[in-house]
Amino acid sequence: MERCAAILLARGKPCPNLKEAAETYRALLDYAAVFGDRNPVELEVGCGNGGFLLEKAKREPQTNFLAVELCTNVVLTAMERTMAAGIPNVRFLNIPAEILACYLPEHSIGKIYLNFSTPLPEKSREKQRLTSQRFLEIYKTLLVPGGKIEQKTDSAEFFDYSLSQFEAAGFSVEEVTRDLHHSEYAQSNIVTEYEANFTAQGKPICRLVAVWSV
Ligand code: SAM
Repeated sequence: MERCAAILLARGKPCPNLKEAAETYRALLDYAAVFGDRNPVELEVGCGNGGFLLEKAKREPQTNFLAVELCTNVVLTAMERTMAAGIPNVRFLNIPAEILACYLPEHSIGKIYLNFSTPLPEKSREKQRLTSQRFLEIYKTLLVPGGKIEQKTDSAEFFDYSLSQFEAAGFSVEEVTRDLHHSEYAQSNIVTEYEANFTAQGKPICRLVAVWSV
């Protein structure tokens, strides 16, 4: 496959039965073919307009990044920005995270970024929260041993919920801060589009790193 700045790899719809979908419909990516090298792969779920990975990929050219985004219009903007910037190590998946296991080989991802995932406070939408047990079980199948999930959010309630979910799922949680921009992690932080908006409104940013040690 010709090496290009950004390609739309796939589209899909949420599947009611994840296990069945992953078992009956698998189109596993060959990272070497997709990226043109064998560098380690990291993943952002809900990349939005792609600003975070654009900067991350610039800073870390020896890592490959997959950006997952449900919304087609949004992911197209992210792709255009990435291509315009000539970034070679980012690819996009226009799918819901629910069906990631159909496309990503097991235990192939070093790190997952959850930047300002929608908190969905309604109890009826708990299963859709990107840090619910349902999603943590999916991430566990994708992460390499010792792999990490980095989460940022402006919502203290969603942060508390996520902390308890990570712990219940057997992750060890570290680097916890409830005021990222005034913490020791501020210097290396890449500010996302949503983060810039929330910070402009005076909201402190919460951040954690969850480690999956099998
Ligand atoms: N990460 C970006 C940022 O920090 O600026 C965008 C944050 S925005 C609040 C959340 C994004 O996640 C939206 O673009 C939404 O379409 C996407 N999203 C929500 N649920 C998703 C899912 N299940 N699978 C993939 N993307 C999802």
